[in-house]
Amino acid sequence: MGLERTLTIIKPDGVEQQNVGDIIKKLEGNQFRIKAVKMVRLMRQQAEKFYAVHRERDFFNDLTRYMSSGPILVLVLEGENAIDRLRDLMGATDPRKAAKGTIRQLYATSIEKNVIHGSDGPATAKTEISYFFSALEVL
Ligand code: ATP
Ligand code: MG
Repeated sequence: MGLERTLTIIKPDGVEQQNVGDIIKKLEGNQFRIKAVKMVRLMRQQAEKFYAVHRERDFFNDLTRYMSSGPILVLVLEGENAIDRLRDLMGATDPRKAAKGTIRQLYATSIEKNVIHGSDGPATAKTEISYFFSALEVL
């Protein structure tokens, strides 16, 4: 609660489909402030490290191949209750189950290619932000 920071990623499908502008507009329209942003392409091993918590899951190979398949946009967002609010705005992991008007309902094409990532708690937000950004880069 209170003012929080969270990490979001516009995944390769969002960049490829040119939905970056629409998604950022939605984020800014929902009281998230951009504190840092960059476009990167992850090496396979970097995607594996980022999603290490899922390494035993059967979708891990597909997930890390997909996340390293093209450029992604990585952003630090700040706002009141930002972590939970971003998860709400993203919608359910499976876009077929995502509530109307959520980013995944609008732009995702499958449970894997689901267009956006958001940190799932304060500890993960901190780790994920420092995975991509140095303190000097978060304004
Ligand atoms: P994220 O961590 O990317 O914000 P999430 O927290 O909604 O998404 P997780 O359970 O953490 O979902 O899964 C991480 C990612 O792995 C999902 O966003 C999706 O891209 C992929 N994924 C999850 N479940 C499946 C599945 N059953 N089949 C294929 N891919 C999946
Ligand atoms: Mg997750």
